[in-house]
Amino acid sequence: MSALLLPFARRIADSNLVSPDEVPRGAGCNCLCPGCDRPVIARQGTEREWHFAHAKGGACQHGYEVSVHEIAKQMIRHRRELLLPALDAVISATDSFGLLIEERMHVLNAKTVHLDQCKTSQKRDEVTADVAGRVADREILVEITVFHRLMPEKRDRLIATGISSMQIDLGEFKVSQATRAKIEVALFENTMNRHWLNHPRMEQARREAQTKLDAKLEQRRAEWQLAEEKRLEEHSKRRQELAEFQFARPSLLDKPAESIASHRPLLGTEAMWRASLPTQENVYRASQSLSARTGLDIAIVRAATNTITSRGQLATTTPTNLATEWAAALNLPEDEIFRLLSEAGYILI
Ligand SMILES: [Zn+2]
Repeated sequence: MSALLLPFARRIADSNLVSPDEVPRGAGCNCLCPGCDRPVIARQGTEREWHFAHAKGGACQHGYEVSVHEIAKQMIRHRRELLLPALDAVISATDSFGLLIEERMHVLNAKTVHLDQCKTSQKRDEVTADVAGRVADREILVEITVFHRLMPEKRDRLIATGISSMQIDLGEFKVSQATRAKIEVALFENTMNRHWLNHPRMEQARREAQTKLDAKLEQRRAEWQLAEEKRLEEHSKRRQELAEFQFARPSLLDKPAESIASHRPLLGTEAMWRASLPTQENVYRASQSLSARTGLDIAIVRAATNTITSRGQLATTTPTNLATEWAAALNLPEDEIFRLLSEAGYILI
């Protein structure tokens, strides 16, 4: 950050922020650093971008950031022009397969408006906005960020005013030297560095997006249900075939016939993971049941089940491996773990 030069200073005569080319060179510029209020000199050399430097040498921590922030406010106030962001409502949720799906409602395109009135550093209710502009009878508050993101408390206070509010992010100047020309492009031409914090049509758009998303979720749930039924059907067919095979060769059984009803997969078969993770309630109920059967503290059971947080994790192991692992960790027979996995709805047996 030390490579960034102070691009603007406050001219004592009229309190405006100015570039080095708008004032006489050297100490004759009669300007102060906007960050620390110490006198600066205008450097108009041939090697580096023209800039200001503290007259007594050294740098200050916030001079550069404050100068960019302040001149951005001043430019909007002088031009009385504001590039409004596009308005999109975006809602997302996790479907029955555990995938993230998104619904986007496009409401308004970005557009430039002329401000009938424009003031900087305006207090509204509990918050001071960087810029307050007026278009016809409607007010718009603007928050400009440079080095730091907009703090959630400030965002909330802006939204609480009920006034249309937008944010402009000038974070690009954290790494690239700010000049008047570059800031003008960022403020009046770049539609990507801004968004609405509050807009009268936002709630309605969100509700419409939610309705569309709910319909999609319902459709995915039905698809999942169908996939699950198909898996069940295939599984029960395999189970039937194996039962017939074992009935024909009882000597192959290392367990009596009742093992068919037990919670362990039959000899020579592997349990299958279900298409998606079971609900938290089902996992909790099955954990409680295991705890009641074995006398093991529910918290210890939950510590094991809580390690599974996504369906993707299950893809890296088999039910048998997981049962062996948990059986060792909880010091319980594998049958109990299989019963837990089956009752919770992790697996098909
Ligand atoms: Zn300074």
